[in-house]
Amino acid sequence: MATNLHIATRKLVSSNPATGEVLRELDCATDAEVQVAVGRARTAQPAWAALGVRNRVAILREFQRVLQEKKSEAARLITREAGKPYAEALLMEVLVVLDAARFLIENAASFLRDEPVPHGSVAMKAKTGRLLREPHGVIGIVSPWNYPFSIPAVEALAALVAGNAVVLKPSEFTSLVARGLAAFLHTAGVPEAVFQVVVGDGATGAALLNSEIDKLVFTGSVATGKRIAQAAAARLLPVVLELGGKDPMLVLEDADLDVASSAAVWGAFANAGQTCLSVERCYVHRSLYGKFLESCVEKTRRLRVGDGLDPQTEVGPMVHERQLRIVEAQVEEAKLDGARVLAGGTRLPELGKNFYAPTVLADGTQAMRVMQEETFGPVLPVAPFDTDEQAIRLANDSVFGLSASVWTRDPERGEQMARRIVAGTVMVNDTISCFGISEAPHGGVKASGIGRVHGRPGLDEMVRVKYLDVDRLPGMKKVWWYGYGEAFAQQMEGFVDLQFARRLSTRLRGALRSAGLVARRKW
Ligand code: NAD
Repeated sequence: MATNLHIATRKLVSSNPATGEVLRELDCATDAEVQVAVGRARTAQPAWAALGVRNRVAILREFQRVLQEKKSEAARLITREAGKPYAEALLMEVLVVLDAARFLIENAASFLRDEPVPHGSVAMKAKTGRLLREPHGVIGIVSPWNYPFSIPAVEALAALVAGNAVVLKPSEFTSLVARGLAAFLHTAGVPEAVFQVVVGDGATGAALLNSEIDKLVFTGSVATGKRIAQAAAARLLPVVLELGGKDPMLVLEDADLDVASSAAVWGAFANAGQTCLSVERCYVHRSLYGKFLESCVEKTRRLRVGDGLDPQTEVGPMVHERQLRIVEAQVEEAKLDGARVLAGGTRLPELGKNFYAPTVLADGTQAMRVMQEETFGPVLPVAPFDTDEQAIRLANDSVFGLSASVWTRDPERGEQMARRIVAGTVMVNDTISCFGISEAPHGGVKASGIGRVHGRPGLDEMVRVKYLDVDRLPGMKKVWWYGYGEAFAQQMEGFVDLQFARRLSTRLRGALRSAGLVARRKW
């Protein structure tokens, strides 16, 4: 079969999607091996947690140093196994991880510190409340191939600094990158049992899901995400699900045409369109439509497609031919339904079996699969709109809600539009880069998933919150304990009134009256 993955008796072959070169043959971890890995992680985790956050941060700093020194080696490995241009491997993978480490080094200790919970209720004043953030224990991570380094690394760093042990099941297409990540972490001082990689396919992922992990962080397709959610529900295993997207780009009539068209081309074709935050559909105000398309076509035709290890390459291969066939089918169907191919629209067999030409499609309509389903390939479908209202409607007409972007010279107006788009992230005048903002939470709504990674919310996913309450008057019985009766009830009524009896404010009464919401009653 024409794909860079071969599974026979549960073996994997890792290969270079640009050249077909076999990089390594690997055995899938068996269910028993997965269980052993999780058992080792569980045994090792308490000592890792007891090390304290400051020592774990010191190890993270060492990891950052190791990775910075090995940046070229890491980026080359990513390019060889996942195909993306070297510059993207460096910037969108290695740099993202270095900065995620920076964010945790700067903030983990304060974010994980016990947090006082002051009590507003008079009856609870004698107590001291605190929120404790405790590690879950063993966190399973199941990751995809499109960002084989940055996705599992950012999740793992947050899990580790919070005191968890991690067992990672990487994509079957990018096992070597995951092993590289493990080597960097171990060199930095993370014990081998505290961060482990189990290589394998979907069945290995399922084995991890069914093992004694305490939480699963999954990134991948909606179909797999739903299967995972069902299995997790059966045992109430907490999960984070980072799933697919169909991210819209709205180009308003006052946008800078040159900037917006460059953004559309980069946003659609970076990593050959295999980015969860890719521009997957682009809506352009009708007054700019023709010129915008011309500009996109010109810029697309100039792109250099090839092997990502060639420094001149701007667009690499797709990771495997199965993904390419999905892209091809969507483009062919769109053509039959009236979309016009203005650039690309074909394979590039002269470069290799996994190359598809960056493609600009004009006149997309909402009924087309290429405007509804995730394409996850180098395709930029463009459609016109006439009003802001229509643009918002089109943007929200999707089962997905991962990210979106709005392009305008008026940031205020962009913000107003952004607030009305249903998505986990909306950027005004930029796209995709939110993934590189370590402070920014990443995740979706609707079919794009549940939960967040990155930023403080991402760190919060790696801990469970415990509320600790200490009563400072140990010798005193509580007034609400037994001894009920009429006198008690009266006392309690007085107590309730003391705290809460008040008249409706004149301002609110006036507002309710003028809104016609006040029934005739005595206040
Ligand atoms: P996939 O769902 O096919 O596989 C993802 C991972 O799940 C792989 O490691 C795979 O082996 C494993 N897996 C497969 N079946 C499993 C099962 N039954 N139980 C447990 N694990 C199982 O996805 P993919 O093709 O690797 O990745 C592409 C998808 O990932 C796209 O839809 C993309 O949008 C999405 N993605 C989302 C984000 C995000 O942050 N939201 C980021 C990157 C990719």
